[in-house]
Amino acid sequence: MSTEIQREEMEVDVLIVGGGSAGLSAAIKFQQMVGAHNEKSTDNPVEPMVVVLEKASEVGAHSLSGAVMNPSALEDLIPDYKERGCPILSEVTKEAVYYLGDDYQVKAPILPPPFKNHGNKVISISQFNRWLGTQAEEMGVHVFAGFSAVEALYEGDKICGVRTGDRGLDKDGNPKDNFEPGMIIKAGVTIFADGTRSPIFKRVSEKLNLREGKNPEVFELGVKEVIQLPKGKGVAGEVIHTLGFPLRKGIGGTFVYGLPDDQIVVGLCAYLDTEDPLLDPHRELQKLKTHPFFRKKLEGGEVIGYGGKTLPAGGWYSMPKLYHHGMMVSGDAASMVDVKKLKGVHLAMKSGTLAGETAFEAYLKGDYSEGTLKAYDQKIQSSFVKEELWQTRNFHQTISKGVFASAPEIALQEITGGRGLFDNMPIEHMDYETTLPVLDVWGIEGLNHKENQLPEPDSKLFFDKLSSVYMTGTMHDEDSPNHLKLQNGSICQDVCFPKFKSPCNHFCPANVYEMIPDDQAPEKKKLQINYTNCIHCQTCDIKCPFNNIDWTLPEGGGGPNYQIM
Ligand code: SF4
Ligand code: SF4
Repeated sequence: MSTEIQREEMEVDVLIVGGGSAGLSAAIKFQQMVGAHNEKSTDNPVEPMVVVLEKASEVGAHSLSGAVMNPSALEDLIPDYKERGCPILSEVTKEAVYYLGDDYQVKAPILPPPFKNHGNKVISISQFNRWLGTQAEEMGVHVFAGFSAVEALYEGDKICGVRTGDRGLDKDGNPKDNFEPGMIIKAGVTIFADGTRSPIFKRVSEKLNLREGKNPEVFELGVKEVIQLPKGKGVAGEVIHTLGFPLRKGIGGTFVYGLPDDQIVVGLCAYLDTEDPLLDPHRELQKLKTHPFFRKKLEGGEVIGYGGKTLPAGGWYSMPKLYHHGMMVSGDAASMVDVKKLKGVHLAMKSGTLAGETAFEAYLKGDYSEGTLKAYDQKIQSSFVKEELWQTRNFHQTISKGVFASAPEIALQEITGGRGLFDNMPIEHMDYETTLPVLDVWGIEGLNHKENQLPEPDSKLFFDKLSSVYMTGTMHDEDSPNHLKLQNGSICQDVCFPKFKSPCNHFCPANVYEMIPDDQAPEKKKLQINYTNCIHCQTCDIKCPFNNIDWTLPEGGGGPNYQIM
């Protein structure tokens, strides 16, 4: 259809896909350099056009992170951020790490180095990105919210912009009365900064072979809740991490961040290279709150927010080539997360800043070729982005062997600057390849698995998944195409459900996938996809054991509406 219809065309100098921390930092840096140039060269001022495309209904609405932020990149980019009203919720005031047994906890006597957060800031990334968005707009950046970039455009092998998604299509892809065709946006340079498992950059990197010789991308899934505690019970700035309970298989941990006004964030991250077909982070988060340590901390509390998202976990060796003719990639879309410290916002901001700086240099030269944009890679190499990610370059590969089994090797990496015994350690499997049949992992217990393993929902502290989804504010038009493309339903019915118990029914944090009775074959079940519930975490694109789901971009503006995540 896209080839048959008339599309509006627009030409811009810099196009940024993704209005998160990386993309907005790129836009802000670019505009700062425009301002500095125009102040110096009054006889030769420039007025380039910078556009940011954000698929959410507004900037920040799809942003979800812990988040305890290392402020270094923010301080570099906007030194007077406090005067400008940046929403920092709290300084980190207290820190601790615990191991949780089934009904006891042991506090680590010394804070392990990766968990040291002194000097870092507790933020809500959805609020922080909204603020960054206003900073960018005040500087003249055009932020188009509600626009998905669905397809990269090429001239030869040069990226020359994107096409945005059509709006107003019905379930079957036919135009409705409110149909608006997507636009062609041509750009000198396109910066991909649209976050974890960027659907558009996934295709670009495949086409341009930007991952050749790199480790595969691997991920964690994080879910979190914001809980309102009784007055006087919260400790703003308290940061706690725990290991152990409730995860019984695979690797993961939890985080607890104290917010002002007696609010508290409780979250859980799980590695997606687990063998466990029944992994369900939402269920584990509910179970976590039954532990005596959490029971006491959360007593009288009420959940007021919920969300989930994947984060890239592969680190330095999973990063793609960062530039090509007419394009750069930054932030989570380029796997720039320090997974040992669970920190990515400052790396997203710094890489975005360096991409923005490179884009301005290229704009002044009038040259967006690969030779010019290579400077971006050199800037990353000599920045703290490389320094930090280099320290953890073998971390994921090691810890995936198990927290206790990997402890000596992790300790060795700590004292050898990330090298350890072997460098560069390969990642042998994509996340979807590691899932095993239920019987192999759980035995008979798994085959008898029942959803009632959940704590009883009380609509205060404990929720079933569907009620949690309601809190995300997620919305998609019921009469719009399903963006979750199932390749082969008979695999779900005949292979996956009998052997794996349909992992998507468990790992999806938004209850999108359900095996329901099949009217055509009463002895079987078939997959139902409740796509309007989707909160865009990307897990199904990553973890279906048969690689049977392709997550494509829904109509712009759909998805969660995070306010305090
Ligand atoms: Fe299994 Fe994937 Fe089908 Fe879900 S979509 S039932 S995980 S094959
Ligand atoms: Fe995440 Fe996929 Fe579920 Fe959407 S459908 S919430 S992307 S797992």
